[in-house]
This record gives sequence, structure tokens and C-alpha cells, in this order.
Amino acid sequence: MSSRTVGPYPTQHYVHLASIESSFLRNEVRKTFHAYPIDIRRPERGYRVEALECGTCGQPLAFTVLSIPSAKRARMRWAGLALLGMATVFLGFARLAESDQVVHAGGPDLSAVWGLAGMGGILLFFYALMKLAGEDGVRGPGWFFGYGKHGLRWPPRGGREGA
Ligand SMILES: [Zn+2]
Repeated sequence: MSSRTVGPYPTQHYVHLASIESSFLRNEVRKTFHAYPIDIRRPERGYRVEALECGTCGQPLAFTVLSIPSAKRARMRWAGLALLGMATVFLGFARLAESDQVVHAGGPDLSAVWGLAGMGGILLFFYALMKLAGEDGVRGPGWFFGYGKHGLRWPPRGGREGA
């Protein structure tokens, strides 16, 4: 999944959302992006904040570019959170399965707590996997809230560009 290597420059591109065409008949939405490379060299350590002017609309866009070690650590953190989420799922549902016996033995009924923990673990697992898949050590527009007019995007594998 994160077989993408961390190079001296970010691999992800920034995109300007040029148009959204929706076709009700075919039940699809076509988004047209203009993609540009993020031409900011990674610092030796820590991170660097720089602004680029959008190649389509000229709006200044601020990017935070992490060093190679920091970007790798960020990926490790998401992987760690995904594992934590999975562990919470197993723990929560294992305790949930036992909760009947606990109650029979006179213990408190914590089944709701364990059920919630299991559900929370599932959410954490998928959230962390999604973040891991999108982690290139770059923070920019759209990183937190998905696509607005600008966003970050992996270039298509195989080198096709634009569209
Ligand atoms: Zn733009």
C-alpha cells in the first residue's frame, strides 16, 4: 500500500479543480483537475513551509513539506494507529463476547462500552489506513477536509498526467 518511496521532492501533486460535470443519466460525476508538481525540496530535517502560486488561478497555496525521516515517521505513525485500531477491535469484541459471563458472575455490565470500543477501533483502523495511503509528508490545501478547489493527489502510476 505505501510502496511509494519518499524522494527529495514530494511525489504528490497539487491539483486545481477545474470543473465538475455530473451526469444524472449515467449517475457519475466527472471532475477535471489540473495537476502540478510540488516543487519544494524536502529539508534535511523537520519541515519547511513554502507557498506556491497555483498554476491555474494564481492563488498562493501554502505547503508544509516534511523531511524524508519525518515523512517516514508520519507513515509509521499511521501504520501504528491502524494496528492500535485493529487491537482495539479484537479487545472490544472479545470482552463484549465475555460480558454475559461477567454479568452472571455479578460483575458490571460493560457490554455497551466494549461494543463502542470495538466500533471505534474499526473507525480508527480505516481512518488510519486512509491517511497512510495518502501520506507523502506534505500538508497543503485539502489535507484535512478533502477536496475544495485545491487538493493533494498522487500522480497516476505509469506517468499519465493531467486530466
Ligand atoms: Zn487554483
